Amino acid sequence: MRATFSGNGYKHSYSREADDCYNYSQTADHDVYYDANIALVETVAEDSDISWRDGRRIVELKHMADQMFCVKCSHPLHLSHIVDEKISGLGSFLHIQCPSPQCLYINTVTTGKRNEKGVFDINNKATIAMIHSGMGPTHLQNFLAACNIPPPNQSTIIRREKEMSKSLLSQAKQSCDRARDKEKNSTESTSMEASFDAAWQTRGSGCQYNSNTGHSSMIGPNKDKVIDFDYRTRLCSICTHHFSRRETVPAHVCNSNWEG
Ligand SMILES: [Zn+2]
Ligand SMILES: [Zn+2]
Repeated sequence: MRATFSGNGYKHSYSREADDCYNYSQTADHDVYYDANIALVETVAEDSDISWRDGRRIVELKHMADQMFCVKCSHPLHLSHIVDEKISGLGSFLHIQCPSPQCLYINTVTTGKRNEKGVFDINNKATIAMIHSGMGPTHLQNFLAACNIPPPNQSTIIRREKEMSKSLLSQAKQSCDRARDKEKNSTESTSMEASFDAAWQTRGSGCQYNSNTGHSSMIGPNKDKVIDFDYRTRLCSICTHHFSRRETVPAHVCNSNWEG
């Protein structure tokens, strides 16, 4: 139950009037999750049995429209003839039966483009969007579930994140190189000014220095772009997993770059 702060005779200077978004005293027409067939934090396995009739999907319309013909007899296909859906993250393979009585062939239609490894592009896009907007896998899942879009499970998102991490890092470094060149060219001086800041996760109180991660960035004053950055982390889920079981850690791409 949400708290209502209006009508108690106690007003702060920052209180809003009746249209305040925190004022829930007026009954809504429907619950905010009125069409949610999918539980908020429930994850969808790749072999989920969620019906294609449930919830929403993210589709590339042109990509789908081009496939809406039977591969055997070229008869147009109808979405209402879907017999099965196989969900793969945020993409789906729709098995659609040809409506022609002489054919009845079951065609496979994909909801979006896939890369050379067969991964739906939307899974990579959603992961990039998650990183770009400062969210984590749980936030992304909750966001999608609230939109009534079956969310991918966490391991799928983390796998995509790991796959893309090298490219993202390389792109970030190239971006810094370009910004540094622009910054150099914007001044006659042989030396370069920059503002620098660093932070770590547990800095809140100012006296905790046991954070697992830390990051820093340098910004050029003329172009206002990040010209360099660095980070330190002593966390690696693979190392932690094997250390806790006293096992030999297998060769892997290790996230940790700091000890101490
Ligand atoms: Zn057909
Ligand atoms: Zn490791």
